[in-house]
Amino acid sequence: IQKVGVLTSGGDSPGMNAAIRAVVRACAYYNVDCVGIYRGYQGMIEGDFKEMGPRDVKNIINKGGTILKSARSVDFKTKEGRKKAYHNLVTAGIDSFVVIGGDGSFTGAEIFNEEFGFPVIGIPGTIDNDIYGTSYTLGYDTALNTVIDAIDKIRDTANSHNRLFFVEVMGRDAGHIALNAGIGAGAEEILIPEEDFGLDRLVDSLKRSKGSGKTSSIVVVSEGDKIGKNVFELKDYIEENMPEYDVRVSVLGHMQRGGSPSCFDRVLASRLGVKAVETLLEGKSNYMVGLNEDKITLTPLEQAIKGQSKIDMELVKVSDIVSS
Ligand code: ADP
Repeated sequence: IQKVGVLTSGGDSPGMNAAIRAVVRACAYYNVDCVGIYRGYQGMIEGDFKEMGPRDVKNIINKGGTILKSARSVDFKTKEGRKKAYHNLVTAGIDSFVVIGGDGSFTGAEIFNEEFGFPVIGIPGTIDNDIYGTSYTLGYDTALNTVIDAIDKIRDTANSHNRLFFVEVMGRDAGHIALNAGIGAGAEEILIPEEDFGLDRLVDSLKRSKGSGKTSSIVVVSEGDKIGKNVFELKDYIEENMPEYDVRVSVLGHMQRGGSPSCFDRVLASRLGVKAVETLLEGKSNYMVGLNEDKITLTPLEQAIKGQSKIDMELVKVSDIVSS
């Protein structure tokens, strides 16, 4: 391994910059060249590369987003596109790459490795924490803090008006953000895709909550939850069945993807970035670096893509107990 490419791909998340910085500096430490690949796989196809040294990544550890930009590349899903990408990498002397992204980005990396025998390593970067083989993905911790901050503010206004708020949070098909931020922000109910609560149980629970003296309520709804078709239909249903409630909806949206990464995400990004480069230098390929029981571990990309990251049912129980 002489020249490592680094790219960010798919949905962005806080901590990606810290990971880029770690990859670039680890390359410098181990005396191999590093090249930034802009706009994910699309930049690979267009040859949008820039040589990067340690000073090119100064003052970015605290920045959200990604200095390399991210993109979704339709062309990379075609053999033609990947051939072009391979040609550009070889022409630039790049002999391996580290991709920071989610399962889509890992799938692309795996296919590319299979086709060209090109060494690749993945770093899990997504706020959704929906990747198997790591307890935490980059940006998840920061997103949780952003969400509890927002819910704390919503609770202030909910209290003043005796309102019921449905707060929709991100997470795709996984309820990690909803469950953890819901517990952290003291939500009355948390609706996640992994557990079908049923509308009747929700109404019962809200009635009990009102009966026990609560004057306002926060219900955190994961975007992938299937209980209502969407959060606005949920609102309509509750208004019909509980006319005593003044119901509001707040969809937090893309603010959850931004912001300065938490210390946890910065440290995680630094550890994963260094390990990604070390793994390539050991001659290994097709792994995702991740965090398990506070150790940095390797998981075959294929498993990381196919495996299911599981919600901890103990947390669901804790949420039931502490919200009563
Ligand atoms: P994420 O990495 O956050 O899951 P996407 O699913 O959008 O985001 O994937 C990011 C990029 O990875 C896609 O835009 C595409 O370029 C590449 N990719 C995803 N799936 C495939 C695939 N089956 N074959 C080749 N490339 C893929």
